[in-house]
Amino acid sequence: HAKQGGERRYAIFTPDMARRSLALLTMESDLRHALARDEFELHFQPKVRADLTLIGAEALIRWRHPEKGLINPGDFIPLAEESGLILPIGRWTLREACDRVMSWRAEGLTIPSVSVNVSPRQFQDQTLVETVRQILVETGLEPEALDLEITETVMTGDVEHAVGTLRALKDLGVTLSIDDFGTGYSSLNYLKTFPIDTLKIDQTFVRDVLHSGKDAAIVSTIIALARNLGFSVVAEGVEEIEQAEFLGSRDCQNFQGFLYSRPLPPAEFTTFLRTAKLETATPPDLVPSIA
Ligand code: C2E
Ligand code: MG
Ligand code: MG
Ligand code: MG
Repeated sequence: HAKQGGERRYAIFTPDMARRSLALLTMESDLRHALARDEFELHFQPKVRADLTLIGAEALIRWRHPEKGLINPGDFIPLAEESGLILPIGRWTLREACDRVMSWRAEGLTIPSVSVNVSPRQFQDQTLVETVRQILVETGLEPEALDLEITETVMTGDVEHAVGTLRALKDLGVTLSIDDFGTGYSSLNYLKTFPIDTLKIDQTFVRDVLHSGKDAAIVSTIIALARNLGFSVVAEGVEEIEQAEFLGSRDCQNFQGFLYSRPLPPAEFTTFLRTAKLETATPPDLVPSIA
């Protein structure tokens, strides 16, 4: 976006920058129409226990762009945030996630809980609580089966408002997770007052947990912190069985990561629910059961 400025400012606006901002503008305009054209999809990634029982699934949005193909959230969620389009997109995501769980149920496939990411802008929005309440009523999903993942960022703004929103959400009966825990700039102080159920250890700590003493120390400390505060804890980005073993040895029994499954489109997740053979050593051929 070109800022108001003098000639000098204009002079350093290079052709490359022009191309970039044009691309951004095009993308924003495409994004504006994506909902109406039904171009978003949710993929689902299981969260499992060490014994491979299914504890839930995280809904992760993708954008099936007519020309660019499948776009990952990292490449459009920031723009959606900035433009405010995240609000209608977020409502779509919540409803779609709850709807999917209900259709799986209708087929006899139970997912104990579905997690939906809520971005900072959505969290600030005055209508969030009412939106969630309404979607639960309309889809018929019981609140306990909906988990909202928020990041620490929401704790750095208006704390009073944040606490109020979290309490109102908890009053609906949904559960709350802190996503990417340990990567934000917030103080630990909020953990005392915020009605949180789960800490999700960020995957950047999990990635090198076997080879970096510092990451191992951070991971162990987060797990202990969660335990001592009475929260459950989930490790993200688990790719190797040894990572899961390390986490287990530190008393984290809940995992999410490519080791168990990549995020799957709904049809493939249906197959996963029907026939899950989680590719780990033990136990073999385990069908997910209700946690
Ligand atoms: P997140 O909520 O922390 O989601 C976890 C990300 O890690 C996902 O990336 C997932 O595909 C990826 N992941 C899972 N297991 C592994 C693993 O073992 N190794 C590695 N390297 N990566 C793994 P994804 O789907 O690209 O999503 C990126 C971020 O975009 C999410 O991070 C979340 O912050 C945001 N996002 C996704 N869907 C939504 C949505 O519906 N609404 C909002 N507001 N944000 C979303
Ligand atoms: Mg998440
Ligand atoms: Mg995360
Ligand atoms: Mg993340």
